[in-house]
Amino acid sequence: MTFRASVLTLYPEMFPGSLGVSLAGRALESGTWALDAVQIRDFAMDRHRTVDDTPAGGGAGMVMRADVLARAIDGASPPGDPRPRLLMSPRGLPLNQARVRALAAGPGAVIVCGRFEGVDQRVIDSRGLEEVSVGDYILSGGEPAALVLLDAVVRLLPGVMGNETSGDEESFENGLLEHPHYTRPAVFEELPIPDVLTSGNHGKIAAWRREQAEKLTAERRPDLTPGPFRPS
Ligand code: SAH
Repeated sequence: MTFRASVLTLYPEMFPGSLGVSLAGRALESGTWALDAVQIRDFAMDRHRTVDDTPAGGGAGMVMRADVLARAIDGASPPGDPRPRLLMSPRGLPLNQARVRALAAGPGAVIVCGRFEGVDQRVIDSRGLEEVSVGDYILSGGEPAALVLLDAVVRLLPGVMGNETSGDEESFENGLLEHPHYTRPAVFEELPIPDVLTSGNHGKIAAWRREQAEKLTAERRPDLTPGPFRPS
């Protein structure tokens, strides 16, 4: 089944962007997923194609109008569309691998990219938009956030990653940051590869990796909770 993404934006030329190359680009070409970038401005009704206006109550900046955005959403996602409707927003729950996995298992996503100060609250409420953040910092628009979200989702779609198993051991998949990696040369600037990795003892290697992952996680991300030990 094709994962269908519709992105609502004032800058459709930003898509597919980075998603048009490498793994995601090949998957897009082969029809594993589909991307539709919708120009929100096309749904404005006035001569100037206005999409924003001054904030009610005063203050700096502009706000995206509820009526224009609602028409764009209804056009891209008519009633009965099973896809979740997301709004990229610093106020949302921070995106994590569990949410990414759930999205990748579904039919697609309708993704609204904000600009200016954000969007009128009434369209968030009336169209049931789920706010999703990519981190505690402010971007100038939702487009880079949508590219991040879709990149994370698309690589999980069946057949996209060459080596299907490599996904399971990655950072966050088991509540841990990943262990360090090494490859040739055997000695780099007098630094050898840790002996255990060249020992050929798979049990010891798995235990060493787990130990390293636990140590890194405790140091850097004590907020993550490790899952059960699954020797690889
Ligand atoms: N005034 C808003 C920020 C607006 S930034 C506030 O203080 O919360 C303009 C747009 O960029 C937002 O509407 C949103 O779509 C996008 N954006 C900015 N930071 C983001 C983040 N961390 N995650 C997801 N989207 C973000």
